[in-house]
Amino acid sequence: MAEILIVEDEFSINELIRKNLNLTGHHCTQAFDGLSACRLLENGKFDLLVLDIMLPGLDGYQVFERASGTPAIFLTAKSGLTDKLKGLAMGADDYLTKPFQMLELAARVEAVLRRTKKVETEFMLGDMKCDFDRHQVFLKGTAVECTPKEYELLEVLIRNRNIALSREKLLDMVWGYDFDGGTRTVDVHIQRLRHKLHLENHIKTVYKLGYRLEAQK
Ligand code: CA
Repeated sequence: MAEILIVEDEFSINELIRKNLNLTGHHCTQAFDGLSACRLLENGKFDLLVLDIMLPGLDGYQVFERASGTPAIFLTAKSGLTDKLKGLAMGADDYLTKPFQMLELAARVEAVLRRTKKVETEFMLGDMKCDFDRHQVFLKGTAVECTPKEYELLEVLIRNRNIALSREKLLDMVWGYDFDGGTRTVDVHIQRLRHKLHLENHIKTVYKLGYRLEAQK
């Protein structure tokens, strides 16, 4: 989990980013103008900035200058090359041109955090070890065969551990919105994960909702 500061003056975009990054297990703080962003930066420690360039008060570049080396992904409304080049020249880690897909943002965020060593690269629970870089799962040190969907489901559960996730949410996150196989698919995959990885006591059924992976913090 990383601490992320979202600086974006368009409320709906800021909210959408927050919701999506929360879902991938990060904690987000929101700022809607440059000055309050700087105040938050003075008072807190952030692993990453998601930073709009066109802001009221101070613009994104000015905020970034005051961010003392915090990694940043710039959001630019312009497709103009100068904006991107200016951001990168100043040391931004990446940029996205609006409009962008939330999945794209989430992928860039993970990539930057990975580079700056702020993401988990593995997770252990009981006899199980999940290696996020290799997309492999081990049980007592021996690799366990998982289908791509089983693996993705496991990673979503791990990254959102101790949080109850509905079947619908899991379906959306792992299979995508256009999948029409129904929530039964989730149940079947959960059963397989429980059995294969000896997680019967850790993947809890949440009555009338879905599932939660329980793990000590
Ligand atoms: Ca803006």
